[in-house]
Amino acid sequence: MAITQTRTAHLQAIDAAHHIHPFCDPKSLAERGTRVITKADGCYVEDSDGNRILDGMAGLWCVNVGYGRQELVDVAARQMEELPFYNSFFQSSTPSQIALAERLSKITPGDLNHFFFANSGSEANDTVIRMARHYWHLKGKPEKYKFIGRHLGYHGSTLAATSLGGMKHMHDMGSSTLPGFEHIMEPHWFAHGGNLSPEQFALRAAQALEDKILEIGADNIAAFIGEPIQGAGGVISPPPGYWPEIERICRKHDILFVSDEVICGFGRLGEWFGCQYYGVQPDIMPMAKGMSSGYLPISAVAFSDRIFETLNEGGPISHGYTYSGHPVSCAVAHANIDIIEREGLVERVRNDIGPYLQSGLAHLYERHSIIGEVRGAQALAGLQLVRSRDTREPFAAEDNAAMICRDICLEKGLIMRAVGQAMVICPPLTITHAEIDEMIDKADAGLREAASRLG
Ligand code: PLP
Repeated sequence: MAITQTRTAHLQAIDAAHHIHPFCDPKSLAERGTRVITKADGCYVEDSDGNRILDGMAGLWCVNVGYGRQELVDVAARQMEELPFYNSFFQSSTPSQIALAERLSKITPGDLNHFFFANSGSEANDTVIRMARHYWHLKGKPEKYKFIGRHLGYHGSTLAATSLGGMKHMHDMGSSTLPGFEHIMEPHWFAHGGNLSPEQFALRAAQALEDKILEIGADNIAAFIGEPIQGAGGVISPPPGYWPEIERICRKHDILFVSDEVICGFGRLGEWFGCQYYGVQPDIMPMAKGMSSGYLPISAVAFSDRIFETLNEGGPISHGYTYSGHPVSCAVAHANIDIIEREGLVERVRNDIGPYLQSGLAHLYERHSIIGEVRGAQALAGLQLVRSRDTREPFAAEDNAAMICRDICLEKGLIMRAVGQAMVICPPLTITHAEIDEMIDKADAGLREAASRLG
């Protein structure tokens, strides 16, 4: 024990001196030290002190098939031996890129049959912006260039993806917003619904899109983008009726409809893609994370036949990344999709672990009055912590309710994430009933302790 702790302290000191972390307050990193994760298998990770922790966040919403898949390691090694890299620029391609594009076309809904590869969700969304604007140029409508996103929407961290998202703290960091991006309210009934029923509120929240379109003018708008369930915003799941109404409004005003599937794709909601769970059909669909279960970085943007035809006639596409369609990432993503299909993980979420997890969370709701609302669907969930459930009174920001609860759960061996005043959960899709029971038991104990600390 002494040896591992010395090693941990050593790693933490080097980390604090040389490593700038994403989305992290450097001061608290220096004070508390980073948690060094050294290995993982199944649904568990292990830290440098030898603690085994149940990963209720699938890494960062991505390890859909769980850790320790030798098959993916072998595929990567084979591809590295055969062809570690070649680009897809200037009319070249590799077999693994070609195979993955075809494989994706078999699982994406409707006519989303054409794929542009990138390395991250952020790059995928930058691609969405550039391609959608290019599309409208080719259609003779260059003034259609603005995007409408939502407050608390998250689409990545590049300058353009930050602007597309609706995270104020990100916009505020170094004035990181570009012109041409507008935001409407997020469909969060518990926060904004007042006395409306969820169904009434769904229509009101969707109406915010039409109001914004009328304000800016449809002739100036390229697209609306939304995550089926807003993950990083705190797992905000819209009430029934919201998505069909959004789709209708987009069609009515000739605005492209983009479903950001970076979290909801690849089985998370018990369908291959989140838009299928809500019964809507986007024109453009960025995806990442579960596409390779995080084993290697890769993302893609799916385009409909209609958009593809226009892009094809429009001359050179002056866009791309060196590692667009990296052959090793493509091979791993392909094998990962094979695993999801072979093990029936999409159906497993829909018929088994999704309902099982949700019933465990409903049990927590009954036991803990600091849970104001259980949100999400299937294998994606959020618990809103509140001072009073009846009046929906939130905890004060300085109470740090979710952070306290997160830290207590971590001490008990469970990773959940704190987002604002919510605890969020997004486990590997391979999680067993026994592991869900363990998660619920640990969350139960964590919530009890957090409630008593918060008074
Ligand atoms: N889109 C959504 C919905 C996301 O949740 C994320 C990341 O969490 C991104 C885009 C950005 O992906 P990346 O971090 O790979 O750039």
